[in-house]
Amino acid sequence: MTSRRVVPLPPRVDVAIVGAGPAGIATALSLVRSDPGWADRLVVLERTVFPRDKICAGGLGARADQLLAQLDVQLDVPSVPVHGLTLHLPAGTRCARSELPIGRVVRRFQFDEGLARCARDKGIAIVEGASVASLHPDGSHVRIVSSKGEVLTRVVVGADGVGSVVRRALGLPAGQYRAQAVEVDTHEAERDEPRDILRFEAMDRGLTGYCWDFPTLVAGEQKVCRGAYVLRFGPEPRDAARTLDAYLVSRGLDPRAFPHKRYAERGYVRSVRYARPGWLLVGEAAGVDPVAGEGIPQALSYGELAGRYLHERFAQRDLRFEDWSHRVAWAFFGKDLRFRARMVEMFYGRDRPWLERVLVEQPWFLHCGVEYFAGRRVPRPWLWRLGWFAMRTWAASILSRSG
Ligand SMILES: Cc1cc2nc3c(=O)[nH]c(=O)nc-3n(C[C@H](O)[C@H](O)[C@H](O)COP(=O)(O)OP(=O)(O)OC[C@H]3O[C@@H](n4cnc5c(N)ncnc54)[C@H](O)[C@@H]3O)c2cc1C
Repeated sequence: MTSRRVVPLPPRVDVAIVGAGPAGIATALSLVRSDPGWADRLVVLERTVFPRDKICAGGLGARADQLLAQLDVQLDVPSVPVHGLTLHLPAGTRCARSELPIGRVVRRFQFDEGLARCARDKGIAIVEGASVASLHPDGSHVRIVSSKGEVLTRVVVGADGVGSVVRRALGLPAGQYRAQAVEVDTHEAERDEPRDILRFEAMDRGLTGYCWDFPTLVAGEQKVCRGAYVLRFGPEPRDAARTLDAYLVSRGLDPRAFPHKRYAERGYVRSVRYARPGWLLVGEAAGVDPVAGEGIPQALSYGELAGRYLHERFAQRDLRFEDWSHRVAWAFFGKDLRFRARMVEMFYGRDRPWLERVLVEQPWFLHCGVEYFAGRRVPRPWLWRLGWFAMRTWAASILSRSG
């Protein structure tokens, strides 16, 4: 059963959010959390009609649920609990497992619909089937033209994902880190990991990406979502669909038996200015994790920050948003994004063998990653040990290269 209501497009608002994915809904929820009065001053325009799918593996670290709790949201949607992950690399295999769940795997059509329902319950207007076609500066406002009519807004938030029309209207390029991700839902196979483990494989050093197996539920049935993430980095990036097909064969599956779902992703780049006076970008419209393509917690974090930021800026009557990119870069999730953007070179460049060795030989590394994914505090001794090991092996790799 859906909780959809037909919401008319208001002629004029203070904030219009384009896109009702995690970034857009989190922005709206965060605004309303800052002041419930915001519910009457904003609108969310969504191209599709819920429940709608979004091509995504749905791997959700528990830190995403912590973010939702901060926004007073608890999402009880069907999900597979996850306790750990396995990494298969040329240097070896490493598994990190935790007693407590570290996250879950959701289906996006249920997750996003649930999120939209929570927003509606807080009085937020979501106009579904409103595809934004163009945006026009109009004095101190922006005129948004959509398939459901026009709206005049003081601020537009671009939360419309990888193909963002808002980003294009801002004249921003598509971005330095672009990726293709392809996935299929298959039955379980003999060599699969236990159902509470996320499997990652990056055995081919010529591939600027990886393949995955995530346990999932399709209409209540136990399935496995398998996919390939390929970052367009380096001279000849591979084709994601062919990469996935080869992976499926290696897992003993016939690629032709499963419909492929393909979608693009955009990675975060520090140097881009994600705002102009009256406009700002959040979520994948701006950029998410370029190394692994993780984007749901990042989209929620962008939104949570954007809501607080907009509330503050309206109170100060300053809608220039000159420091939005800076605020993102120095938020906790922004520091993480900057770190991951730096890791692209290391992960998919010449330091890859070194990094693989660190990942396989040093169990603390992956355990730190798992604790972080789960939103738990990483024990300090692990971090010290990790830092020391990383410095030592990195120095050794530089010396061996120059020698
Ligand atoms: C194959 C694949 C697997 C992935 N797996 C994972 C994973 O396991 N875990 C993870 O964390 N991340 C994963 N991601 C990344 C994640 O899906 C995205 O980063 C995340 O959805 C970004 O959220 P968002 O709200 O910014 O954008 P989106 O979720 O893309 O939402 C954008 C919304 O805007 C709407 N919209 C678009 N254009 C318009 C328009 N013109 N007018 C009105 N509305 C519009 C769309 O309909 C959509 O509802 C995966 C991505 C892919 C492609």
